[in-house]
Amino acid sequence: MTSFHDFGLAEPITRALAEEKYATPTPIQAQTIPVVLSRRDVIGIAQTGTGKTAAFAVPILHHLFTNRRRPERKTCRVLVLSPTRELSGQILDSFRTYGRHVGTRAALVIGGVSMGAQVRAVQNGVDVLVATPGRLLDLVTSNGLRLGEVEFFVLDEADRMLDMGFIHDIRKSSRSFLSNGKRCCFPQRCRAPSRRSRIRCCATRPRLP
Ligand code: AMP
Repeated sequence: MTSFHDFGLAEPITRALAEEKYATPTPIQAQTIPVVLSRRDVIGIAQTGTGKTAAFAVPILHHLFTNRRRPERKTCRVLVLSPTRELSGQILDSFRTYGRHVGTRAALVIGGVSMGAQVRAVQNGVDVLVATPGRLLDLVTSNGLRLGEVEFFVLDEADRMLDMGFIHDIRKSSRSFLSNGKRCCFPQRCRAPSRRSRIRCCATRPRLP
């Protein structure tokens, strides 16, 4: 793929990418975007700074644009987990940048700040929720959020999250949408989800020292 137009992406997304002066897809984007657009699971391994965020955000935004529906209260359609507050904020910014003409509702759920504003942010439902695993679990267990409606599930820097011991929080939170044999997560054991085939995952690896 030599141009973002070759993917058949919706015009509001290619317009946003053109405004960002993205002329050519990076290798991780060229490989990942068609796979996610065709609704298959993907594990992408790429170093930081190679355009990995757009590799999953762009096809997901295309799906949201072409399958518009109002998210239900206290739910999200897309769940992105990342290991740190900083990375989560950057991912949210990317969704907002690439989705600026799509009209996507996005929210951030991270630790270290008051939970009240985050509870209110998801009260009416959001399209995209970017979260760190611990705070996400707090929100789910306090009934501030239901994850039964998740269509796309992204684990960014999955290896780092596992290294940081987030596996238990992730397992507990994701039980509601990865239950009954619907599993799809980690590089070592990625099985196709039986019913909810729309769930996607993307693992990325930070730059090696
Ligand atoms: P990331 O790896 O997602 O953190 O992206 C690294 C940097 O590359 C960010 O500043 C992006 O804005 C930029 N970027 C991502 N995709 C492209 C592209 N196709 N062309 C030019 N810059 C890009």
